[in-house]
Amino acid sequence: MSILIVDPSTDERAKLKDELESAGYEDVVSSNSVREALAHYGVNCLGKLTASVDLILMDLTLAEDEESGFRAGPRPSKSNDRAVLLGLVNQNDPAAIKKAAEAGAIDVLCRPVIKAELLMRIRSALALKGEREARAESEAALEAELTEKACELEQVVSYTTEVLSLASHELKTPLANVSGFVDMILLDWERHGPPSEKQQRQLEAVQRNGYRMDALVDDIMAMAKIESGTLDLSPTDLDLPRELEGVVGFIQGQLDEKHMTLELVAPESIVLVQADELRLSQIMVNLLGNACKYSPSGSSVTVVVQESEEFAQIDVIDNGFGISEDDQINLFSQFHRARNPAAQVVSGTGLGLYVTKQLVEAHGGKIWVQSEEGKGSTFSLTLPCSKKSKSKSKKIGHSHQLATTA
Ligand code: ADP
Repeated sequence: MSILIVDPSTDERAKLKDELESAGYEDVVSSNSVREALAHYGVNCLGKLTASVDLILMDLTLAEDEESGFRAGPRPSKSNDRAVLLGLVNQNDPAAIKKAAEAGAIDVLCRPVIKAELLMRIRSALALKGEREARAESEAALEAELTEKACELEQVVSYTTEVLSLASHELKTPLANVSGFVDMILLDWERHGPPSEKQQRQLEAVQRNGYRMDALVDDIMAMAKIESGTLDLSPTDLDLPRELEGVVGFIQGQLDEKHMTLELVAPESIVLVQADELRLSQIMVNLLGNACKYSPSGSSVTVVVQESEEFAQIDVIDNGFGISEDDQINLFSQFHRARNPAAQVVSGTGLGLYVTKQLVEAHGGKIWVQSEEGKGSTFSLTLPCSKKSKSKSKKIGHSHQLATTA
């Protein structure tokens, strides 16, 4: 604890310093005036002086003049004060006591000073200072916590608003489609008997929109799990080409609608990967759905499966609108949609690739894109091979047409 004594009397200063040092206070400095104390601590005002020591024991009978450097009256800011001020006054000197109160002293000590009383006052002044600091610290911690919570809340609100507007936009469109077509079919059915060709097309649209909504709900739910850190996988050994054949069923309707074809090129042998079946399907529905959405009618999509020692690689190749280099930078971030005018007219949320990347990485794999605007895109990803994988073939051989022009 550092203590500063300001007293014009040399004898009084020496006596107070001795008494304090003999009671175990090691860092005691004494000055004859505030001016000298300022010079000692290398500061230029009382405010800075109070930040340099723990306690100031000051003679408040000091003249308020240039010479002493002392000014009574409230100081503009006491918030940075480290020191507590203890006023030294003469007995029965109300003016000095008033001055002490105005200067912010927490207590006064009357002359003649009795050692026991001096030590008692110093001890309680320092204890009060400790309490004041602890309170200020906990207030600062509370304020920091409140600011942090306010920030988090702001993020949650903006995130929730984004998800809600996304859900209302993107879920309502396919839903309107589904209920509209179902109404029409049921009405026609009652009037004209079993389904006609037109009704079959409407039923296909219902199915397509159902799958679209299902995929979006899956992405929103996956995003919520990713954000809350509760995404968990149940990986099993899966034969990749067979799984991919199964996934094509989910987007067959979209392919047919745009008269597109899809070709799967995979090794003849089994390619066993360690993956969560539902999440693998979600990854592929997103990538194949995008290849279909962002390509012109009549074009084709190729899926190539290759296997190396530890990883299997899947390339989804389209001849669609492509993605500019600028847009590729943030392509896998949440809610990012490319600025390509051809892609902008297609409805979407900017969620699919973000979720896809998180899911691939949760499997220990990687995902990347190569694309040229106007020419097409190749989305590639890797998944860990199963430890039990028998096939070590790197050959890309067997190829079969999965979807034909509708
Ligand atoms: P969404 O398709 O719902 O907008 P995604 O996260 O799946 O969201 O895709 C983000 C953006 O990346 C899309 O808006 C689109 O501009 C672009 N994109 C994704 N896949 C392709 C692709 N195969 N070809 C061209 N652009 C694509």
